[in-house]
Order: sequence, then structure tokens, then C-alpha cells
Amino acid sequence: MKSGKEIRCSLCREPAVTRIAYAKLWLCKKHFIEFIEKRILETINRYRLAGRGQRILVAVSGGKDSITTLYMLHKASMEMGFKVIALHIDLGIGMYSKISRETVEHFCQSLRIPLITLDLKTLTGYSLPEFVHKTRRPPCSICGLLKRYLINVVAQEIKADAVALGHHLDDLLPYIFKNFILQNLFEISKLGPRTESENGLVGRIRPLYEVSEHEIALYAKLSNLPFVDEECPYAGKKNLDKQVKEFLNSLESLHPGIKISFARAVARNIHVYKALSTTKPLKKCMVCGAPSNDDICSFCKLTNRVAGKPLGAEVRLKIRDALSSLGLLE
Ligand SMILES: [Zn+2]
Ligand SMILES: [Zn+2]
Repeated sequence: MKSGKEIRCSLCREPAVTRIAYAKLWLCKKHFIEFIEKRILETINRYRLAGRGQRILVAVSGGKDSITTLYMLHKASMEMGFKVIALHIDLGIGMYSKISRETVEHFCQSLRIPLITLDLKTLTGYSLPEFVHKTRRPPCSICGLLKRYLINVVAQEIKADAVALGHHLDDLLPYIFKNFILQNLFEISKLGPRTESENGLVGRIRPLYEVSEHEIALYAKLSNLPFVDEECPYAGKKNLDKQVKEFLNSLESLHPGIKISFARAVARNIHVYKALSTTKPLKKCMVCGAPSNDDICSFCKLTNRVAGKPLGAEVRLKIRDALSSLGLLE
């Protein structure tokens, strides 16, 4: 906020809390919240992210992005007639995981959203720090692999139509841009507002596709959404990612609206990128049946290395038991 005389909302006479440069608007708290909610609902409609009678599984870490995604899908679900089920994975990263889990549990209770909580250590015998220690691989790649696998098992078992993720404009654009620089054009096809289900890999939707990081932070704060404000202790951005992000933000300040235009243009051309695929269709893991590029999936390979045997099939049975006791198996 500038010092001196108070700036008023462009739509009413209340004090403004923020300026939306690309829309040439100053907005008060109420109108800012409405503005963001409208943007997210339009994204859900424009890209047909969810529809009547569907089951949407929302992966919730407890951070502002996933909490906002869950909250908005819950709101939309009542009007649009689809069902929202939340999934939280407790990775066993000390206090960070404990606080995240409690935040998600309380939030889902307060909105009466069905919640599935999976505990990595209970499922596999190892927490994320133990996986990292045993493999000496970068934590974020291990974490991503484990989460992708577990989320997909749950989505398959509950016959979800899609998995909703909390990725926003400032997560996706730098990644798209980086893949463009490196000419990994097919990768860009996976970074749009939605991916289709394919050979057992349940499709993903991203309701925050057109919302920036700053907007979500302000929205979550002004809406009093409970979220874990701490970053994952393992978080650390790679230099190139950070620089590409800064570059896009500096372009945005010179040309307000360019980030959203970029995101929409990519969404329109997803089919073009998808046609550039050189990979073979997904196979089924010989051990656990999960979709996989190789004969054995990366989860089975990883657990084989850490636990001495591939755990895919065993973990899937444990998950089925948990889902059955929640009454979520179809
Ligand atoms: Zn206003
Ligand atoms: Zn497997």
C-alpha cells in the first residue's frame, strides 16, 4: 500500500488491499476474494476440469496452494454436482509433517470433506528422511516419485475421474519455459490445466492454472484458510528455475497480463505438444500392475533398493484395506 492518502477499491468505496495490474483494478478484501474465486471457477469451467457425477481426488499437503485448491473445489462441487475426496500423505518429516497432517485433518473435518490419510512409514516401513538416507538421492525426486505413485494408487482404487493438484501459474510457467528452452516439447503437454487419463494413469487437473503465487497467498490469508506457512524443510529451488521465474515476473511487471496470456496460449496448444510424443504407451508393472514405462515401475525399483524387495503389490493391498474401512472402495 502506498503511503499518504488511502486508495479505494475500484468497485466500491472500501479501502483497497491490493492492485491487480493486468486488470487495472484496485480491490478491497471482499472484491479481491470474489475476483480470485471467479477466476478459479472460470478455470474449472473453461477447461472442463470437473463435471456432474464425477469423483475428484484432491491431493492436499497442507500448504496454501493445495488448501486453496481443496476449498475452491469443495465450493464448486456443491453447485456443479461432483464429489470431492481429499488425500493427505504423511511423509514422516518430523514436526513439519505432524503440523501439516493436523492442519489438513482439521480443515477437512470443518468442511466435512472425506479425507484419506496415508502414512508413508506405516505403508512401507520407511519415512521420507529414511528413503533419502538409504538412497542418497535428492529428496524432492524421491518425494515426487513416492507421492505420484501413492496418489495414483488411491485414484485408481476409488475410481476417481481426476486428481486435482495445487500447481499455480508461477509453478507451471517457469517449468514450461524451461522445457521450451531445452526443447523438451512433449513435456509441456503434461503441464497444462488438465491431463487425460491413460492406461491406468489417472488424469490431473489444476484449478489454480491461471492464478499467481502472490494472489493465492493473499487469497488464503484474507479468506482465513488454515494452511502450513512453513516450506518443506527439503525445499530448495534450483538456480535455473528461480532465474526463469524471476525473468517471467520482470516481464509481467513491464507487460501486465503476459503470464496469463502465455498460460492460455500453452493450454490452447497442448494437443500440438502432445503429438510430439516419442515415448511408447505405458506398460503395467510386473510386480504391482501400476502404469510404468519399464517392466518394473519406479516405486517397485525404489522400494526394492531400500527394503530389499519391491513393495508395490503389498502397499496397494494396505491402501485397499484403508479405503475399504473408510467406505470409499467402489
Ligand atoms: Zn470493493
Ligand atoms: Zn510396481
